[in-house]
Amino acid sequence: MSIFTKIITGEIPSYKVAENDDFVAFLDINPNAKGHTLVVPKKEENKIFDLSKEAYASLMDFSYDVAKAIEIAVPCKRVGMSVIGLEVPHVHVHLIPINIMADMQFVQKVSLTHEEFVGLAAKIASKLG
Ligand code: 5GP
Repeated sequence: MSIFTKIITGEIPSYKVAENDDFVAFLDINPNAKGHTLVVPKKEENKIFDLSKEAYASLMDFSYDVAKAIEIAVPCKRVGMSVIGLEVPHVHVHLIPINIMADMQFVQKVSLTHEEFVGLAAKIASKLG
């Protein structure tokens, strides 16, 4: 069972941003930038291109709405999107509010307090249609 499945089942906590029957979005615990969010299918699958085309399209559709909310909630030049999965073998889309190229490089990290995580998650959630 992946760490993200444990988040989905509520076994471990997360700062949740959005959820429907098939997907959940929560803040990355070690973010590249404030508002760095992960969008995860509830059905555990390792690699994104092992998803059906339909599941992939639904994941992108859900990610679109979350990205739009991030763009409104978090000051940034744009929202970058990336899929890696080398650390956690459970499909997830990184949505990252970026200002400079380094924000997409997974080397510079920002630390946030619990209160900042709570505030960011609530602010992004409040901008969802
Ligand atoms: P990747 O698998 O795409 O290389 O990276 C996995 C991402 O998941 C990393 O950005 C890491 O900070 C994040 N991550 C790993 N464990 C947890 C966790 O327990 N909670 C949350 N919210 N994010 C996590």
